[in-house]
Amino acid sequence: SKPIVAIVGRPNVGKSTLFNVLAGEKISIVKDTPGVTRDRIYADVSWLNYDFTVIDTGGLEPETNDEILKHMRTQADIAIDTADVIVFVVDLKQGLVDNDFKVADILRRANKPVLLAVNKVDNFEKYQLDVYEFFNLGLGDPIPVSSASKLGIGDMLDQVVEHF
Ligand code: GDP
Ligand code: MG
Repeated sequence: SKPIVAIVGRPNVGKSTLFNVLAGEKISIVKDTPGVTRDRIYADVSWLNYDFTVIDTGGLEPETNDEILKHMRTQADIAIDTADVIVFVVDLKQGLVDNDFKVADILRRANKPVLLAVNKVDNFEKYQLDVYEFFNLGLGDPIPVSSASKLGIGDMLDQVVEHF
């Protein structure tokens, strides 16, 4: 069967926006869209000669900090159990936060390839170097992307398919 790529990360980092870019249409619901009930959303994606399935693990996410961490742990476990490659999304605009480190710790211990995508790098010329702060997560070189502006997506996918 096809390889599975799971997208994980804190609420509001842009997981669903990234997923929708990969899916090529609006399947997953970006924040503030009413009527979201599904927990995991799947799309078939092709890149180069590879066909794979991408999962947005975020679903409908909680808002209180305790619940967020619990939810993120569950989503990370789902990704570790089901995915061949995990894309951990963080947010350049919010910067590194404690929950990023906690999820990174879980993902680092998993025996799965994890790519670190730094989203919201809306201007590569201005902000590309700022992503190196996220190197501290211990997940290798950060990959700058802007899901909203569709920047860096191809370079990220090149790295994803290298692990199949
Ligand atoms: P999720 O909770 O991780 O699934 O995040 P969403 O995809 O729902 O996005 C959360 C917010 O971030 C929304 O307001 C998006 O429009 C915004 N967003 C997503 N990607 C980008 C990006 O690349 N740049 C900027 N500036 N905003 C983004
Ligand atoms: Mg979402």
